[in-house]
Amino acid sequence: MIEWLKQGDFAFANPSSLHASGRKAKKQLHEVQDYLLTSFGLKDSHEIIFHSGATEGINMILRGLSQCSLQNQKAPVQFFYAPTDHSVVTVLAEELSQQGHHSFPILVDHQGDFSEEPLINQIKANNPTRTIINYTFVNNETGVVWPLELAEKIKKETGAFIHVDAVQAPGKISNYDQLSPELDAYTFSGHKFGALKGIGFTFIKKGLPCIPLIKGGGQQKGWRSGTENTFGIYSLKLALEELKKNFDFEELLQAKLSLETQLKNFLGDRLIIVAEKAKWRNANTITLILKNAKSDLVQAACDMSGIEVSSGSACSSGSMNPNRVLMAMGFDEACARCGLRLSFSPYLNQRQAEEYFQGLSKVFAKFKN
Ligand code: PLP
Repeated sequence: MIEWLKQGDFAFANPSSLHASGRKAKKQLHEVQDYLLTSFGLKDSHEIIFHSGATEGINMILRGLSQCSLQNQKAPVQFFYAPTDHSVVTVLAEELSQQGHHSFPILVDHQGDFSEEPLINQIKANNPTRTIINYTFVNNETGVVWPLELAEKIKKETGAFIHVDAVQAPGKISNYDQLSPELDAYTFSGHKFGALKGIGFTFIKKGLPCIPLIKGGGQQKGWRSGTENTFGIYSLKLALEELKKNFDFEELLQAKLSLETQLKNFLGDRLIIVAEKAKWRNANTITLILKNAKSDLVQAACDMSGIEVSSGSACSSGSMNPNRVLMAMGFDEACARCGLRLSFSPYLNQRQAEEYFQGLSKVFAKFKN
């Protein structure tokens, strides 16, 4: 990406301008649209909308569809979401309820998994045609993966609109780019896979009715007004190219598993690995509970040793509340105050995992009893 910047070959002009520089910017924008739709296997079925990131993208989809239902059919929607979803979703679920829609939490078990049959039955018992589901592909707190095949099955049996929060997929699971054309929408944030911050995108099935969140000059076919962030948009292509070239899923997975094993051997029954027995997990997240060691204290001690860990989702860390995702998975409050999340770059290798363990074990030793 730096090379590209040095070359100065990025389009600075407004892509809506008709002059040569504007046309160049528009060409680069189309190049990225095409690249992303093709890379994720959605070229024939979906269109792409660029925005500032998943928070905006998820707001756009959930507000847009629910408003559309109220406006066109004069009817509220049934919104299904998981209490383990990112807070952008859980906050919107509350807001939709306040607006007269109906929000239903999907039951998750102690491993962060869910069962599709009860969900399908519950949707069918309500109003499948006016149902929206937020389906988190890879959970940002626990690394639990909900395979797209299950979402496809729910779609097939109920016809519900399914939005996939795919933010945590690239660089964390092996099949992050094999998306199903059957599902209605997918949202990504560029900075989660190496692109610039402040840029994201949503794939939405062609022809779906939705009311735009941001209105104005009508850019992006009216889907999202405002001059496009061409620089950020181009960084999406560069970052994805880099990931596709260098990401070695097996290496990352083995490095994570070896670190996990070392931590288990070191801490014994003082350690709980959250979602360790989930049906599917990603390769870059370890959420752990170090019993009786409050996460903010451990986090501060790690930080002083130059090791960066999280105690909640990034945007809410700093708060001293028990981790709401752990609570939703059935952990008691004492455990939920001791949750720590380790997340790794897609390029973590065995040697770095070993170094990581050496550093962590020194900090954790202080909290051993
Ligand atoms: N969804 C998930 C699963 C996330 O992990 C995040 C951010 O961490 C978001 C949504 C929101 O993304 P952003 O902060 O880039 O808008």
